[in-house]
Amino acid sequence: MPLEKYKADLAELKARDRLRSLSGESGLDFSSNDYLALSRAPSIRRALEEALAEGIAIGSGGSRLLRGNHPAHEELESKAAAFFGAERTLYFTSGYAANFTILSALPKRGDLVIFDELLHASSREGIHSGLAKRCKVPHNDLEAFDDALRKWHAAGGKGQPWMAVESLYSMDGDFAPIAGLVELADRYDAMLVVDEAHATGVHGPLGRGLTAPYEGRDNLIVVHTCGKALGATGGLVCASKTLIDYIINRGRPFIYTTAPSPLMALAVSEALSLLEREPERREALTRLIDFANSQLTAKTGFPGSGSQIIPVVLGPDGKALQVANFLQERGFDIRAARPPTVPEGTARLRIAITLNNDETQVSQMLDTLVEALAESEAQAEVAL
Ligand code: PMP
Repeated sequence: MPLEKYKADLAELKARDRLRSLSGESGLDFSSNDYLALSRAPSIRRALEEALAEGIAIGSGGSRLLRGNHPAHEELESKAAAFFGAERTLYFTSGYAANFTILSALPKRGDLVIFDELLHASSREGIHSGLAKRCKVPHNDLEAFDDALRKWHAAGGKGQPWMAVESLYSMDGDFAPIAGLVELADRYDAMLVVDEAHATGVHGPLGRGLTAPYEGRDNLIVVHTCGKALGATGGLVCASKTLIDYIINRGRPFIYTTAPSPLMALAVSEALSLLEREPERREALTRLIDFANSQLTAKTGFPGSGSQIIPVVLGPDGKALQVANFLQERGFDIRAARPPTVPEGTARLRIAITLNNDETQVSQMLDTLVEALAESEAQAEVAL
């Protein structure tokens, strides 16, 4: 097979400081989404050990629609519906599959999907593979959503309008104006799809997300991912019974895939129990988030985000890589986020605050960041 074109593409990525490669865990965790440090929680491990001892299947053995539907999946879905306040939930292998499925299967030809320009790739790819018209609007701009909906109606749009957003943006760490979006959905008879990936477990009452006050409405679909604060993997779609039944019948990535491991469904169930049983974990994280944001601004002048995702926008890809390397060499696992994951010219450090660290470690990381920024400035001056 001629490999030249692939090699040339890789060489071009490298020349532009965009080549990615896989690297393992090393240094203090300031980059994972394991916000509540549940990925190693003893009570979840114990629940899995007991289930294994009782003979739970490791693999599901098939699609949920065939023999792969296990009691652990259904127990998780009932528990999640009660926890989040949804009429029904459906468990997917990943948040990616959940977002892709709902946004490719539900909006139909003749519908319009209005989406935030920073919406995650999984949702955007769902929208792009569906048949509805699409309209991208500036980030967190309620007026732009309003305008798009008004123009659609004025132009005689007959189909269903949809809005798709994240509640807490994964690369900027800022929150969506959920109350305003719910109001727009009601006013224009639109459907609102909210990806809570980074808010699940961390924000809202008991970690139920920013949509918690609105759960149970027919015009709201919410995705909670399980691979971040819940410490496991998977995605839970919360919606009305009708829409969940529809996805089971028409959502191709749900139908034509092996069901998630029953063990993973059990781990997610246990994580939800933990959120209820131990709200102090979330409270400790909230205090650490406040500490990190205020200390970042005090020490570096960079604005905080107010959430556990703190971007330090540095601009050029090379600069972000250089500052990230400086931190990594000193034992802090902080990664550079570069285009196309973030817009051109906004390469950044994406600092994640998790309960895998405490205030002392956060302070040490910020002091090292101050050194890294100074070193980067000094090098830039030499280059001039
Ligand atoms: N939505 C957002 C906002 C994400 O950041 C991610 C993962 N990075 C996903 C969805 C996909 O979730 P999963 O990792 O469970 O596939």
